Amino acid sequence: MKKDDMSSPETRETELNAAELQLLQSSLADAEDRSQIPPPENKKQSKIVKLAKKNTAATVIISVFVTALVAVIVLLSVYLVTSITNGKNKRDYLFTFGEEEMRVKYEKIVIDDVLYVDMNKLAQYAELSVSGSDETMKYMVSDEQYVKFMNESEYAIINATKVVIPAPAIIKGGTCLVPYEVISKAVDTGIEFKSDRAKHTVSITRVTYAVEDILYNEDITFSAADFTAVGALQSTAGVSFEYNADVTQYLKYIAPEDNTPYLMLVNADNPLPTDFEPENLSTEPLPSKYTGQGEKYYLDECAAEALLAMVQAMYRDIPNNGAYVTSAYRSYEYQEDIFQKYIEEYVKKGYTPEEAEAEVLKTSARPGTSEHQSGLCVDFITVGMKNGLNNEEFERTAAFRWLSENAYKYGFILRYPKDKTHITSYSYESWHYRFVGRDAATAIYLSDICFEEYLEFI
Ligand SMILES: [Zn+2]
Repeated sequence: MKKDDMSSPETRETELNAAELQLLQSSLADAEDRSQIPPPENKKQSKIVKLAKKNTAATVIISVFVTALVAVIVLLSVYLVTSITNGKNKRDYLFTFGEEEMRVKYEKIVIDDVLYVDMNKLAQYAELSVSGSDETMKYMVSDEQYVKFMNESEYAIINATKVVIPAPAIIKGGTCLVPYEVISKAVDTGIEFKSDRAKHTVSITRVTYAVEDILYNEDITFSAADFTAVGALQSTAGVSFEYNADVTQYLKYIAPEDNTPYLMLVNADNPLPTDFEPENLSTEPLPSKYTGQGEKYYLDECAAEALLAMVQAMYRDIPNNGAYVTSAYRSYEYQEDIFQKYIEEYVKKGYTPEEAEAEVLKTSARPGTSEHQSGLCVDFITVGMKNGLNNEEFERTAAFRWLSENAYKYGFILRYPKDKTHITSYSYESWHYRFVGRDAATAIYLSDICFEEYLEFI
């Protein structure tokens, strides 16, 4: 190969003069006209075509580079503008509670694009009484005027009405975040709400009125009127109770002044500690006249007295057909013994211990999750029932009908109703009655709800 041929294209390019470039351009134009570049006729022409190709390639590279540069600049500008705008949008919120101002980090108060208000701050400012737990928070003006929020729930309770809310409340770390839309609508009178989503301000002010130059706060009231209601707890005010005998001596047990100890929730999600024992377990067993199998049955003292009033009334109304108590308080040890005994029976039949446990759990509560450990419930059975506790048989008895219509008057509820198994997570038990006190029992009976639902309302 000759040295000449080895010379680089760049060297040749520099050798080109203006005339050659002109020739090249016209040649390219000709080529375009004929839609085809003619084959080179001599060495010089070939050199020009090579240069033309080279020049075109350079133009392409330059334009690609420029385009890329422009794109990068555009993208960078868009990014910068977006981040500046975002930064602006995510600046702190300014909350004003009366005179007090407080800044709250955007991320803490706008969640999934929903603006929240910390109900605990609002309650402090508006002097609402607060009670609650990790799961529920209740803000009260009075027994009738209150709002209640459940963590991560699509429902809220406003004055004994269950309503749907557009975004859930979030109870966490000492705060109870409630959508601004919800609380500003739920408060009917007494507090004025203003917000400016563009300026990131929320102002919450007590409404005042003046009497002879003295300012008073308007009463705070709540209302469920602006929400979709999904259920309500019927008022028990004015309900009159009819008894077939004088129950005066039992009234303090049937309707205890403070019924909170009797509203204890025991279920699979709320088991009792293994060492739990009822604080006031009766020292005397239930009268044997009302119990079966010669065993001794005990209950919480208050529940025992209320039960006595109830069974006496049942035996008066349906003589010879009254049910008797077949189970009452069961200690954790007793539950554990029974549970293990049942498992062993299945293991003997050839089940693995795991399979046996699964089988037993279909009909028995895991130790600690039985309400019987609370000393607040009983199972009823009648003499005619030959197959033990059985819904079909018990439903046919006069005792079942009597209990269905009268138990609430004595403070007892059917704990696991047929149509509430999806809420109680327990099979229907027509024979299992739980003491909750007359107020709660009446509200549950009238509203046709189960215990778990009732606890949401209060
Ligand atoms: Zn039971």
